[in-house]
Formats: sequence, structure tokens, C-alpha cells
Amino acid sequence: MSAAAPVIALTGGIGSGKSTVADLLGRHGAVVIDTDAIAHELTAANQPGTRAIAHEFGAEYLDEQGRLDRKRMRELVFSDAAAKQRLESLLHPLIRSEVTSRIANCSGKSAVEVPYIVLVVPLLVETSAYRELARRVLVVDCDEELQVARVMRRSGLTPDAVRAIMANQVSRARRLEHADDVVRNDGDLAALESAVAALHEQYVRLRTDGR
Ligand code: ADP
Repeated sequence: MSAAAPVIALTGGIGSGKSTVADLLGRHGAVVIDTDAIAHELTAANQPGTRAIAHEFGAEYLDEQGRLDRKRMRELVFSDAAAKQRLESLLHPLIRSEVTSRIANCSGKSAVEVPYIVLVVPLLVETSAYRELARRVLVVDCDEELQVARVMRRSGLTPDAVRAIMANQVSRARRLEHADDVVRNDGDLAALESAVAALHEQYVRLRTDGR
């Protein structure tokens, strides 16, 4: 019972259902740490990421509220690989350090308060920066055409635009090679909920069994 809460790294391609699975596990009581959400927080007004970006790229990359101007930055990094690299080297250490501090904040808490931690890392396989923090890797997997349809519905992007994003991510097969656990998300939400409930039972036992 005294062992630290296990960290489960949750990954999957765009639109596979990562956020949905993380929300469901959170409802069961998991502590969810989402690297995309942290990236957003770090680039709000007066946050360290925003300050670092203004210093490196200039205040014109902030909007009127002092937040990162995402559209402007997206346009820059889309056409300039070196700028993309500079942006990532500013933000990634800040995100990682926030992740490790949130994990550290969970230490000493009981298995009831923190049965396990779900660390959402969309590019887990691509970056490898978070793998060592995790006890297990959970991959959300679904048919690629379903990914395209879901992202189109969510964002209004064209099929080609969604496929272009997918082409920049590792292949489905490669990602699955890294999985300890896989949750298939090809069915409806009820099917996903029952798959997630079973995973929750499995993850709770990781800590209570002291393994
Ligand atoms: P990701 O975080 O991997 O990009 P999301 O969890 O945001 O994916 O899911 C993508 C979209 O598909 C969202 O709009 C979500 O509500 C929807 N979605 C996810 N899983 C299902 C499902 N099993 N049935 C119907 N819609 C789903």
C-alpha cells in the first residue's frame, strides 16, 4: 500500500480517443496529467512559456491579452523547421518539469486519493521523453478511417488535412509495438466505457497489490 502511485502513459493517434479515455479514467478516480493541457497553461498570459517565447521570438507572437498567439506561431513553425525546433526546445523542458512536479505532488498520498496517475502524452512514441516515468503504456487504438471521421467532426478539418497530421505521427503499427495495454475504440461510447472500467480495475490492483 505504501508504494508510489503507478504512472500509466496514455497515447494514441489524433482522434483515437485519448482525451475521452483520460476523462473516463479520471471519473473512476485516476489523477490525470495531460501534457497538451500543460502546454496550454504554460502559454497563457504571464506564464513561463509565454515569457520565454516573447524573449526568443518577440512580443509580436503574443496576442492582445498577452497569451501565445497560436495561429501566428503555427504559421511560423509550419514553414520554418528551425523555428519549430526552437519553440520545442523552449517548451518541452517546461512541460516535462511541470509533469515531474505534479507526479511528485502525488507522492505520499494514499491509494484512495491517488490510485494511479494517467499521463497523457500524444507523441509518447515520437519523443520518448516520458517513457521512463511510466510503469505501463496504454495505447488507444482505432481504425484510421474512424480517426479521420472523428477529427473532421470535431474540428471541421478536411480529410486531407487530417491525413497530413496523421502522416506526421508514427504509424499505428509502430505505436502498438510500444503498448503494454491497448484499448480499442472502434465501437460506441458504451463499449469504450466498459473497456475503460476493466482497465481501471487492472490499474487499481497495480498499487494495492504492491507490484
Ligand atoms: P484524441 O484526444 O485522441 O484526439 P478524442 O478523445 O478527443 O481524441 O476523440 C476524438 C473525437 O471523437 C471527440 O469528439 C470524441 O468525443 C469522439 N469520440 C471518441 N470516442 C468515441 C466513440 N467511441 N464514439 C463516438 N465518438 C467518440
